Amino acid sequence: MTRREQIIQILTKEEKSAQQLANDFHVELFEILEDLKHIKYSIKPKKLVMKPAQCRKCRFKFKERSKVKTPSKCPRCRSEWITASLFRVE
Ligand SMILES: [Zn+2]
Repeated sequence: MTRREQIIQILTKEEKSAQQLANDFHVELFEILEDLKHIKYSIKPKKLVMKPAQCRKCRFKFKERSKVKTPSKCPRCRSEWITASLFRVE
C-alpha cells in the first residue's frame, strides 16, 4: 500500500492534521501536503473534508481555502495560537 492509500484509510477513520500525519509517517510536512493535494483529486466520489484552522484566542475561523497548510498568524488578533486544520475522508 502506498503512503497515500494509507493516509486515505487513516482519514476515513479519524480526523488528523497534516502535521500529525507527518509525525505518524516520519516524513516532512511538505510531503504530506503534497499527498493531501493529490488525494483531494484522486478519491472522487469520496471527499477530502477540511475543518478549517481556528484562532484559539479570539475564535477567528480561517476560511476554507485551497491551501492545506495551517496559517501561522491570526489576521484579527495576531495571535500565533492556532489550531491546525483537520482533515478527514467522507
Ligand atoms: Zn485571533
